Amino acid sequence: MDTVASETRSRIMSRIRSTGNKSTERRLRAHLVRLGIRAWRMHAKDVLGRPDFLFDSAKLAVFVNGCFWHGCWCSRLPQSRIDYWHNKIARNKARDRRIYKTLTQEGWSVLHVWEHELHQDAAAVVAKIVRRLHTVIR
Ligand SMILES: [Zn+2]
Repeated sequence: MDTVASETRSRIMSRIRSTGNKSTERRLRAHLVRLGIRAWRMHAKDVLGRPDFLFDSAKLAVFVNGCFWHGCWCSRLPQSRIDYWHNKIARNKARDRRIYKTLTQEGWSVLHVWEHELHQDAAAVVAKIVRRLHTVIR
């Protein structure tokens, strides 16, 4: 195996993960702030899966999922080590499903947002969140 190359690759991929997801979250955060939507917190450590945005009073958990890491249809797997990536992404997806299911059973409303949705139409994503907030609060 090409150890050096794969180390470099995993370093690059982990950078994609962190910066990719952070910029997407920042984008959503900016929209919420601009609209004056309050009472949410980010990466709540006390809730399963550490939801990216958590609205406690509305019992709404929002996950912003990077398209690559969470296996969105819009993203392609790297052409090398296909099995590795396939298994890794499949594990992430299974984990997501487990988390959403448990949270729902615990009475949370779970909204899952794709990175590509935020890039294409952030206003629509925010509208979806606002609708959920109103539905739950009423
Ligand atoms: Zn996507």
